[in-house]
Amino acid sequence: MVKIIVDSMLGNLARWLRVLGYDTEYSRKMLDKDILTTAIREDRVLITKDLGLHRRALKNNITSVYIPPEVTEIADILTILVEKLGIEVKFDKNNTRCPLCNSRLSIVPKAQIATLVPPEVLSKYDTFWYCSKCKKVYWQGNHWRTINDTIQLIRSRVASKPKKDEVVSEHEV
Ligand SMILES: [Zn+2]
Repeated sequence: MVKIIVDSMLGNLARWLRVLGYDTEYSRKMLDKDILTTAIREDRVLITKDLGLHRRALKNNITSVYIPPEVTEIADILTILVEKLGIEVKFDKNNTRCPLCNSRLSIVPKAQIATLVPPEVLSKYDTFWYCSKCKKVYWQGNHWRTINDTIQLIRSRVASKPKKDEVVSEHEV
């Protein structure tokens, strides 16, 4: 799986990519030069809304995907990433990350988190994940319907497109 770093304007995308299992670096405080050095050091693909940063990345042989200003919807951004990077937009309960801190999440037994979530949640859901770093429990609550709809939308778009050449230019993405 490709490792990713996103610029400070793409926090929502970072959370999405983490839920989809992608190791995604993101910080609101990261300077451009730190983003570039991290991308090189950790072999990460850059995703950015900053054309200047995108060009600097390409000059440094970093694979970079530029998201134009008119593209704001998460489904549209993820569709671009499917096309340019071949990322897979699907939720795998065994390969997901904490949207807040990027740590890998594991499914935990109900008993382990029983005191951390409201009783009605505990009885309604079967699968829970726990981030030991953030001390946060996750489950597929009501908001999950929206996430699933977005995933389905992207998958249907990608499926309906004619298969294009598999070759992706390394730096012109
Ligand atoms: Zn976390």
